[in-house]
Amino acid sequence: MRHENTGRWWFAGLLVVCAFLGVQRFAVMAAEQNPPPTPTVVQPGATNDQPPSYAIVLFDGTDLSKWSGKDGQPGWKVEHGYVEVVKKSGPIWTKQSFGDCQLHIEFATPDPPTGQGQGRGNSGVYLQGRYEVQVLDSYHSTTYANGQCGAIYGNHPPLVNACRPPGQWQTYDILFFAPRFDPQGHVIEKPRMTVLQNGVLIQHNADIKGPTTAARFNDMQPTGPLLLQDHGHPVRYRNIWIRRL
Ligand code: MG
Repeated sequence: MRHENTGRWWFAGLLVVCAFLGVQRFAVMAAEQNPPPTPTVVQPGATNDQPPSYAIVLFDGTDLSKWSGKDGQPGWKVEHGYVEVVKKSGPIWTKQSFGDCQLHIEFATPDPPTGQGQGRGNSGVYLQGRYEVQVLDSYHSTTYANGQCGAIYGNHPPLVNACRPPGQWQTYDILFFAPRFDPQGHVIEKPRMTVLQNGVLIQHNADIKGPTTAARFNDMQPTGPLLLQDHGHPVRYRNIWIRRL
């Protein structure tokens, strides 16, 4: 009797193992029949700050033909391979609009610096003309945390202060994910942003509550132009490129 029971248990165990192996085999066959698509080839830039293939170069140091300003033409000054904010000329924004994107942009705050806090090298990079990544001279200069350089203004302070001194070129590499909408147009997912400043992670998948102060638009949309802020300080920008995701 005891031998009979042991045999049954062995048989049941064998069935379980066979069933498991069968499921595994089926999964492998399904994967072979529906392989994921081969990723598109993108030719990287010669260095990581240079635009890869398929990137849209928004400013290569020579002209602002891809940008608009408050009087149609942008009123900022282009010289020596950079563009500089001209006080009271207003912000500049791209003619094209963008949703999910990867943005590279370089900036330098004035040297020698003047002013303190928000009055020192202030400008800003507005994704979709709505969500500002603050540009400010926060090198050995303090202000409120969610208004310092690298903050999503009024919303998220940067995780760390990775600023270089005034006058030195700094980089922002930004991954932006636009808000998502239901069929009726209601926002079901807020926009999100990850930012590296000078190669250092300063915003990690931060959810953005809505358009920030001094945004060009106060609603949320699937796309919008990239905008650079005139805060009255001669901040410089160069090497601006973007990839649609
Ligand atoms: Mg600003």
